[in-house]
Amino acid sequence: MTLTPEMLTEEFHRRFGQRPEGIWAAPGRVNVIGEHTDYNDGFVLPFAIDRATLVAASVREDSTVRVSSTFSDGDVVVAELDGLAAGDVEGWAAYPVGVLWALREAGHPVRGMDLLIDSQVPVGAGLSSSAAIECAVAVAANELFAVGLAGPDLALIGQRAENEMVGAPTGLMDQSASLLGKKGHAVFLDCRSRETELVPLPLQDEGLALLVIDTRVSHAHATGGYAARRRACEVGADVMGVPALRDLSEADLEEASGLLDDETFRRVRHVVTENTRVQEAVELLRAEGPRAIAPLLDSSHVSMRDDFEISCPELDLAVDSSRGAGALGARMTGGGFGGSAIALTQIEDIERVGAAVLEAFAEAGFTEPVIFAVSPADGAARFS
Ligand code: ADP
Ligand code: MG
Repeated sequence: MTLTPEMLTEEFHRRFGQRPEGIWAAPGRVNVIGEHTDYNDGFVLPFAIDRATLVAASVREDSTVRVSSTFSDGDVVVAELDGLAAGDVEGWAAYPVGVLWALREAGHPVRGMDLLIDSQVPVGAGLSSSAAIECAVAVAANELFAVGLAGPDLALIGQRAENEMVGAPTGLMDQSASLLGKKGHAVFLDCRSRETELVPLPLQDEGLALLVIDTRVSHAHATGGYAARRRACEVGADVMGVPALRDLSEADLEEASGLLDDETFRRVRHVVTENTRVQEAVELLRAEGPRAIAPLLDSSHVSMRDDFEISCPELDLAVDSSRGAGALGARMTGGGFGGSAIALTQIEDIERVGAAVLEAFAEAGFTEPVIFAVSPADGAARFS
């Protein structure tokens, strides 16, 4: 849903019987390049998108959390922070409650809150609606309880909530982008050192847009496939005698090809070349601008399709049909076996590319994809 601040305030009053102390916003994110590099201690390059999750919030005197979402008509989930343990909260409320729990676990003076969430970030489209919730709640609590944490620390809080309260073994990329993003920039994150740098990504100034093509499919083997890829990466690093694949360079690939079975070798080659592509993308963005990274998107897709083998017919068609209609570069994004692709497109070609993709999907008999443009926006902040 997308409520105005006035409507959200009114709805908060309807559900909780008082006015909120304020409204905070945190965006979703899209990853420009750097796929399956995060859990290999590598590099990623996401940006905060111009679609956010709003949370209207007020603090309570007790340690009760009441959360509600405009997802539903008026259901309120109630949780008690005192005595709460990892994994205690189920369903969507684990994201917001998990953040308050993680802040308390880290020793911060957080009490209960009333929270109403309203999100413009589509769920499960690869845009991290989950991190948007976590980061909106994190900035709200950070301010209302005068916690005083900076963005990178709040990102760790959000990650802990997702890892331990939700139980999803995710990295730090989503929260880093949502909290540290800046209009016209991407966030270059080193997943080992956790250092971040803003890199100029002036899409609009250069007449460009990034299209998200949400295939709306998720193949049955997505979860198992993801776990198998993580295992292959661990095996590869073990055999090569390094802590993580991040520690290999393209010069090591020849040796790797002699030591690893063909499948594991190709998994390793994807991660190693993808890390190189992220670093190249950062250099190209600084030296030449966003148009220059288009070929890297293409080679990232080929690497995921052929070496990491996590694409699927819908994702390949999204990439091929958008490229065929004039997109400058395109690739699948996210865990694989479904989800979204992204296509770097000239603004004047958006309609044509979108129409071509829709037509190709219809012809193939696939579910109609959802296509929309995203642009790099500011990270989480107070909204009103
Ligand atoms: P994504 O890629 O969108 O982050 P996840 O599976 O990580 O996908 O997170 C999606 C989950 O986040 C949903 O299943 C739901 O639990 C929660 N969520 C997202 N948006 C909302 C919302 N507006 N209200 C309540 N819960 C939400
Ligand atoms: Mg998520």
